[in-house]
Amino acid sequence: TRFDDLELHSKLQVNIQKKGYEYLTPIQEQAIPVLLDGRDMLAIARTGSGKTAAFLIPIITQLLERPLASSILIVAPTRELALQIGDEFRGLTLGMNLRCATFIGGTNINSDFKHLAQKPHVIIGTPGRLLDLSNQKALHLNQVKTLVLDEFDRMLDMGFIHDVKRLVTLIGSREQTLLFSATLDKAQQKLIDELLDNPQEIHV
Ligand code: AMP
Repeated sequence: TRFDDLELHSKLQVNIQKKGYEYLTPIQEQAIPVLLDGRDMLAIARTGSGKTAAFLIPIITQLLERPLASSILIVAPTRELALQIGDEFRGLTLGMNLRCATFIGGTNINSDFKHLAQKPHVIIGTPGRLLDLSNQKALHLNQVKTLVLDEFDRMLDMGFIHDVKRLVTLIGSREQTLLFSATLDKAQQKLIDELLDNPQEIHV
């Protein structure tokens, strides 16, 4: 499928074209319709598959209809990945009035407070810093409607399981949860079942 053949907002189409994307990658083929439908998703996919645009395109579509502050939370295991997701979001939202902010460890938390005051629509971060901001009452996790857990297996490998569980508890009820993992380990299955509600599963 070509992006041209999808019914996406015209500004989003322009930005996709500017990025040089013409055809959907396999994960985009499978994920975009499911996510536009509002369903939960478990995606087994690696970096390099085009997974970031696979979740950002439906999220941006949703935000264009309903641009609520702090309604999207994307949790990533590493600073590098968080920054990459932010770059992709900015590229896909040129000319739209949509903002994201990236919160990662090892940076001055005071600048995070300033960025939060600007009411970003999308919040991207690593688990520890997101919890810090929540503990300091700067980040209101109960406003989150869509939660994305990216590179979930790596998040667990890096010892973030308790932080992730805490974040999910603070978020509480939400509309949609997406979980991306490169591997699917039996030991993770119980936790995944708790996080996702009747998810569509895709493997690429
Ligand atoms: P990701 O798996 O999200 O890290 O993406 C891997 C690379 O593929 C990034 O450099 C993206 O910019 C690029 N990419 C994503 N979707 C497409 C597409 N449909 N066509 C060409 N390149 C893409």
